[in-house]
Amino acid sequence: MAQVNAAREILRRLHDVMAGKAAAQVKLNQVVKLVAAELGSEVASIYLLRDGVLELFATQGLAQSAVHVTRLSMGQGLVGNIAARREPLALAEAKAHPDFAYRPETGEDDFHSFCGVPILRREAAIGVLAVQHREPRNYAEVEIEALQTVGMVLSELIHGAGLVDDAQAARMRAANSGPTRLNGLKLVDGLARGVAVFHQPRVVVEHTVADDVDAERVRLVDAFARMRTQIDDMMGRSEFVAGTDHHEILETYKMFAYDEGWARRINEAIETGLTAEAAVERVQSRNRLRMRSIDDPYLKERLTDLDDLANRLLRTLSGQLGTAAQLGITGDAILIARNLGPAELLEYDKRHLKGVVLEEGSLTAHVIIVARAMGVPVLGRVDQLFANVNDGDELIVDAGNNALLIRPTAATIKSYQAMRALKARQAEQWAKVRDLPAISKDGRHIALYMNAGLLDDAAAIPLAGADGIGLFRTEFQFLVSATLPRRERQQSLYRGVLEAAGDKPVVFRTVDIGGDKAVPYIDGDEEDENPAMGWRALRLALGRSGLMKVQARALLEAAAGRTLNVMFPMVSEPWEFAEARGLVEQQRERLARTGHAVPTEIQYGAMIEVPALIEQLDLLLPMTDFVSIGTNDLTQFLFAADRANPRLADRYDWLSPAILRVIRRVVCAGAEHDVPVTVCGEMGGRPLEALALIALGVERLSITPAGIGPIKAMIRSATLEPLSQAMQEWLAKPGVNIRAELSSAAKRQGLSF
Ligand code: PEP
Ligand code: MG
Repeated sequence: MAQVNAAREILRRLHDVMAGKAAAQVKLNQVVKLVAAELGSEVASIYLLRDGVLELFATQGLAQSAVHVTRLSMGQGLVGNIAARREPLALAEAKAHPDFAYRPETGEDDFHSFCGVPILRREAAIGVLAVQHREPRNYAEVEIEALQTVGMVLSELIHGAGLVDDAQAARMRAANSGPTRLNGLKLVDGLARGVAVFHQPRVVVEHTVADDVDAERVRLVDAFARMRTQIDDMMGRSEFVAGTDHHEILETYKMFAYDEGWARRINEAIETGLTAEAAVERVQSRNRLRMRSIDDPYLKERLTDLDDLANRLLRTLSGQLGTAAQLGITGDAILIARNLGPAELLEYDKRHLKGVVLEEGSLTAHVIIVARAMGVPVLGRVDQLFANVNDGDELIVDAGNNALLIRPTAATIKSYQAMRALKARQAEQWAKVRDLPAISKDGRHIALYMNAGLLDDAAAIPLAGADGIGLFRTEFQFLVSATLPRRERQQSLYRGVLEAAGDKPVVFRTVDIGGDKAVPYIDGDEEDENPAMGWRALRLALGRSGLMKVQARALLEAAAGRTLNVMFPMVSEPWEFAEARGLVEQQRERLARTGHAVPTEIQYGAMIEVPALIEQLDLLLPMTDFVSIGTNDLTQFLFAADRANPRLADRYDWLSPAILRVIRRVVCAGAEHDVPVTVCGEMGGRPLEALALIALGVERLSITPAGIGPIKAMIRSATLEPLSQAMQEWLAKPGVNIRAELSSAAKRQGLSF
C-alpha cells in the first residue's frame, strides 16, 4: 500500500504540474525535479526526439549546460538503447553496460546506477525518462513502474505542447522496428501499397491523470460490465458456434474478461491516480513486455488475445466503438483485421482501400468474394500479424507471392514499383485481347462472363472484356444496407445494372442470405449450429415468401421490355426450383394483369451447388433454361469442408478427381438436355483451374473481372482437344496428380500462368 501511496503522490503532484499554465519547458523542468525528489535520485532527465535524435530537454542533477546540447541517436548509449527497444532498462552499474556512452558535458562521472523508461506515443518511442543514483543499487519493480507511469503522463504533456508530432513519431517507429516480412496465403491476388489501418482502431489515451479517482473506478466497473455483455452476446451468436477458431478466441476473451487478477491490476493503477484508460494501458504495456520475452507459442497467443481484449476495453471505456470504416479512411489504406464479415468490408470507401490483411480468412469465404468484386487484394492467414504491425506503418501487400512487407526499405519499395510496372505491361497485353473473342487455336469458343454484385461492376463489363454478367449477387445490396432494401431501391439497382450492361446479358441471382452472409434485419435461425448448411439462400427466401415476392417484382419491373435471366441459389431439390419459379411467374402474371410492363422473356436457372441436386439432374434439367455450378459451395458440401474455415483453406484441391468428375457429370447432363451449363464459382477465375474446366467441356465461365484478361489470353493460345483427351485419361486412372499433369501439358503448349 505504501507503494500505491508513493505512486499516488507522484501523480498528484504531476496533476498540479499538468494543470498549471507554465510553458512546456518549465513543466518539464518541474517534472524532473519532482521525479528526483520522489525517487530519491541524484539525477532525473528527460530526453525527447528532435530531428530523429534524442536530445536532453530537461535535467535535475546533470550539468544544466548540457540541456539541448547532449544528443544521442537511436540505439546510441543507454538512452538510445531504451528508445530503440522501447523497453525499460535498470542497471546497478551503468558503465558496465556495453552500450554505455560517456558524455563529459553532462558531468555524469559520479553516478553508478541508472534506470530509464521509454516515453511512448502510438507505440513509438518519442523520448526517454531516466534517473541515476550515486550508489550502485538495484531498482525495485515498483520504482520502474512509477517511472513508466510518469512516462505516460509526459507523453500526454509532450503531445499537448506539440514538442514531438505524430508524423515524427511514426517515422521513428518505422525506423525503430525495421523492415519485417510475414508470410500468408493469397486470397485475392494483387499488389498494393499503403498505410496500416486497424479495422478495430486502437485508442490513443489522451488524458492520463485522473481528476477524480472514484469516478474512474466506477467507469472501469461499468466498462467491464459492458464488455462482458458484448462477449456473452457474441458467444451466443450463431456464427461463433462451438469448435470454430472464433469460438476458441471468444472463450479466451471470456476467461480474461472475468479474470479478477486483470481487473484488480487495472484498479490498482487507478488507485495511483491514473484515468481508467491510462490504467488499462499501463497494465497492457506490462503485458506487452511479457509477451516479448515469452517463447512458448501457446502462451504468446493467449497474451495476444489479452492485448486484443485490452484494446476492446479501451474502446468501450472511451466510447470509440466504431470500426475504421465508420471513422472514415483517407489516403491509401491497407486494412488489418483478424477476420471480417462481407458487410463490414463493404462499408469501406473503395477509393481508399488498397488492400486487406487478415490473421484468418479462407479462399471462398464471402468476404473474400466481396474483396475480389471490389478489386482489393487480400492476404490471409498471416500469423503474428498484430504483434508485428503498428497502426500507421507503411505496408506492401504482395498477395501473389504470399507476402506482407512491413516498413519496407527503399530497395523493397523500388522492387515493388518494378513489379507494378511489370503488371501494368501484362495488363496492356490483356487489354489487347480484351475485345477479341475467347477462341482457342483449335476453334473452340468459350463465353466469359463476369461475377458482380455492385452497381459499379456493370460499368466494368467493357473494361473487363466480358460477354455479360453471369452471376449478379443481389445480396450485396442487402449486406450494405442497415435495413431491408425496399422494392424501389432494389428495382433501381437492377435497372442500373441492366442499363450499364447494354445488350449484354445479366443473370440475377436471388438473395443468398444466411450462412456467413447474415444481415441483422432478417431473422436467421439463432439456433443454427451450421449456418452454411442451415436456413439460408432459397430456403430462407421460400420460407419468407414476402421477401422473395418483393425481389421478384423488383426484377420484373427492372427488366420490363427485355429478357430477364433469374437464377436461384442453393437449390437442393427440384421442387424448390419449381416453387421459386412459380413464385416469380405468379408475380409476372399479376403485373401483366394489372397492366404493367413485364419482361419479354424470362429465363430461369438453378445454381448447382448441393450434391443432392446432382443426383436428380434428369428431373431438374427439363424445368430449367440454364444452370450454373457454384463451385464454392459445391466443394464445401462435397468434401464436408467449411469454406470459411481457415484451417481447411488449402486442404482440398479444386483439381481433385472428385470435383472434376462431378462437374463432368453436370456438363454431360446439360448437353443431353440441351441446357447450357456455366461455372460461376471462384474456381473458374484461376487460369489453371479454368483450363481444367474447359478441358472437361465447360463452355461458359462466369468469373472475377480481373480473371477475364489472363484467361482469355490463355484460351486464345491453347489447343484444347489434346487437353480434353488427356483429362479423360487422367480421370480414368487412380492416383494421378491432375494439377501437375495439366500444368506440364499446358507448359508444353507454351501457356504460362
Ligand atoms: C458458389 O457457391 O460457388 C457461388 C458462386 O455462390 P456464392 O459464392 O455466392 O455462395
Ligand atoms: Mg454459393
